[in-house]
Amino acid sequence: MIFSDKDSTQFADLETPFYYYDLSLLDKTIASCATEADAHKFHVHYAMKANFNPTVVQRMQSAGFGADCVSGGEVNQAVTLGFAANKVVFAGVGKSDKEINTALDNDIFCFNVESIQELEVINELAEKKNKTAKVAIRINPNVDAHTHHNITTGLDENKFGINSWDLPACADMLKKSPNLEFIGIHFHIGSQITNMEVYKNLCVRVNEFAAWFEDRGFTVKVLNVGGGLGIDYHNPDQQVPDFKSYFQIFADFLTVRAGQEVHFELGRALVGQSASLISKVLYVKNGKKKNFIILDAGMTELMRPALYQAYHKIENISKKASDVVKYDVVGPICESTDCFGKEVELPETTRGDLIALRSTGAYGEVMASHYNLRENVRVVFSD
Ligand SMILES: *Cc1c(COP(=O)(O)O)cnc(C)c1O
Repeated sequence: MIFSDKDSTQFADLETPFYYYDLSLLDKTIASCATEADAHKFHVHYAMKANFNPTVVQRMQSAGFGADCVSGGEVNQAVTLGFAANKVVFAGVGKSDKEINTALDNDIFCFNVESIQELEVINELAEKKNKTAKVAIRINPNVDAHTHHNITTGLDENKFGINSWDLPACADMLKKSPNLEFIGIHFHIGSQITNMEVYKNLCVRVNEFAAWFEDRGFTVKVLNVGGGLGIDYHNPDQQVPDFKSYFQIFADFLTVRAGQEVHFELGRALVGQSASLISKVLYVKNGKKKNFIILDAGMTELMRPALYQAYHKIENISKKASDVVKYDVVGPICESTDCFGKEVELPETTRGDLIALRSTGAYGEVMASHYNLRENVRVVFSD
């Protein structure tokens, strides 16, 4: 999405702040992913936690993707929005009994199980309902995602998944649980992964673990390699991620036996570039050491910078390039971490200018909060 004068004129009549979704870019991104995955007969589940706005989710469903859920609420929402239950997977280190029962009632495709105790609980709850729960074992492969440590999930020190040294006990538990059906193995090692070597390393580990289970008499039907493909936050206009190269790595390095299916769970890459948070400049304040731009959007609308020092490109869409001034761009919330960028070079900015925080389609709107009793975040779609 490249902002034109027309956009800033149209936006001038709208109450800020709001998320602006470019639906044609979203559709282009989804179509590219679907085409590239189909070329290898790969299955894609959309990771709903990245953005559960119904307009976004419905487009993922129409494209034929399944849903990757991390709570009972997401399982319910996926089914309500039309995903076939047999395309819904459910991960999470802390599934409550209520959430497990919700998933059992919906006969979902698979639980991605993250501890041995969880296997025991799912077996018990399934038995009470006279059902068999399909499970994949989420393995922590100890592969470094080389991303920000707050969004790394596949190292020994992380809480996610079952560690390799617990797999023998896990296999025993599976064998003595009549209400569980083992269907495969699952991995998700982190988010915003841009170094493709990481995925090669993951493939090597997946092959090893698949062989480990097969050697012990299990049929591994599903290899679920999770998500995590990053986007280029520095070049928001570059738009559609390179799904072709991404899937090719798995085609090249994963050992896929006859009858095995390869599943993916993509979130950020599918939706990240398709939205910007549009905000208005309330005040421009010159301090002794800094110039501040104070926006009407804050960490309550976009939490990623405060939560993990995330970078979002900041543009003044009301002013054409002119003399550049350095500003700290901050929100109105009573927290010092409520800052979107330091020493950001922008055209000389004045009260009332519109500022776009780019690449905010993923983990943006969904993380909005009411802290400081802020209003619900507004949303505008390009159509
Ligand atoms: C968050 C999550 C994903 C999606 O991650 P992205 O980085 O948005 O692609 C996939 N699988 C699981 C289990 C997750 O928790």
